[in-house]
Amino acid sequence: MSTPVTFFPHPSQKVTEPTQVTSPILGNRVELQLLTTLTCNLKCTYCSLGVGDMVGSQGKVSYTPDVLDAFVKKHLSEHEVYITFYGGEPTLNLDFIKEIMERYPTFRFQLQTNGTLLDNLPDGVLSNLSNILISIDGGEEITDGFRGRGIYRQVVKNAQAVRDRLAGTFTARVTWSSEETSFEELDELASTFDYVYFQFVAGEGTYTPPAMEKKKAVITQLVDKFFASEELYPMIPIMGIVRNKVLPTRATELYHGKTQCRVSTHILNVMPDGKIFPCPDMMYAPEMLQGDVIANWLKPSPLQPHPDMPCDRCEAQSWCRGNCMKNLYLAYVKNDQRYRNNVVDPICDLVRFLGREIDRHDPHAWYAQAPLGVRKTLRDCEVYEYVEIMP
Ligand code: SF4
Ligand code: SF4
Repeated sequence: MSTPVTFFPHPSQKVTEPTQVTSPILGNRVELQLLTTLTCNLKCTYCSLGVGDMVGSQGKVSYTPDVLDAFVKKHLSEHEVYITFYGGEPTLNLDFIKEIMERYPTFRFQLQTNGTLLDNLPDGVLSNLSNILISIDGGEEITDGFRGRGIYRQVVKNAQAVRDRLAGTFTARVTWSSEETSFEELDELASTFDYVYFQFVAGEGTYTPPAMEKKKAVITQLVDKFFASEELYPMIPIMGIVRNKVLPTRATELYHGKTQCRVSTHILNVMPDGKIFPCPDMMYAPEMLQGDVIANWLKPSPLQPHPDMPCDRCEAQSWCRGNCMKNLYLAYVKNDQRYRNNVVDPICDLVRFLGREIDRHDPHAWYAQAPLGVRKTLRDCEVYEYVEIMP
């Protein structure tokens, strides 16, 4: 066996350190959330783009595909990229969607839509979408109350009409606002769509004591059904929390231990004017500017965990991991006491309650006896990559 030889440079030789290129993106994957327009054909009462008057403020994308390409080459060439088309209503700018899909044939694609124009999408687009997130608010009455008369039926009809032409999954994305949203309504969505992802609305006036009790009663029913089902009950927040409790490394591996909504690590929301922000609900805040496609620069996300946030002292920390960072930032860094009392703390209370309800059913024992197919989907479901996981 020969001895390895080490060469030392001659003292007169100048040694240059290898340049360490540190990417502003943490991890190997990145989600490019491209806002194809800020206009929308609906007027949902709680739309988060309403904050800072963002809705309708930018019609079409003002950078060219070549400019985006230069940005991708400079900042994302080492990453696995997946693109979510977002808005406004992204399908109002279908030409842009088609152009991007053609330009990046190896990327994964997702669409976040209100579903009203789904039936206009050509086969080439539908067959290339890994997942469609359809915004819906619960049952017919509640959805139509927020979105306009007839919208619930139109969206469900459109989803059924394109089902056979969609190669990927359909996920109902429910903003859980109303205290009248029932177990039956969410359960119905679970049988209509492949998955249901629900998130508690960030609305003041929502979390009165009676409303909290009603939401908790529905949570209990959903968790009971999850553990009583023979097949996997496709409620993403329950699936994700069970996964995180049984396989804790899954809660951290794509996020470097930070929030699972990806805002601190690997999601870039690109506005139609090319400006980049980590959270789509904070594109009005100049301190959140993270980059610019047109000027071709990118820095690490400014939306990071902060010592004033309470997560380190919370029982849910190991599986919740600080969702939502926007809420925590506004409540604990900006010190908006009213928002904290009326929105953030009640939502954290509901998240902890959901975790305790899951513990009542012994998720480890459930997982141990679950069929392999159920375990696999619970562990690897691709939809976790596209949503915040925590409600
Ligand atoms: S429940 Fe709230 S305080 Fe607890 S870890 Fe989650 S976001 Fe942080
Ligand atoms: S969960 Fe994440 S992406 Fe969603 S609003 Fe909160 S910080 Fe923004």
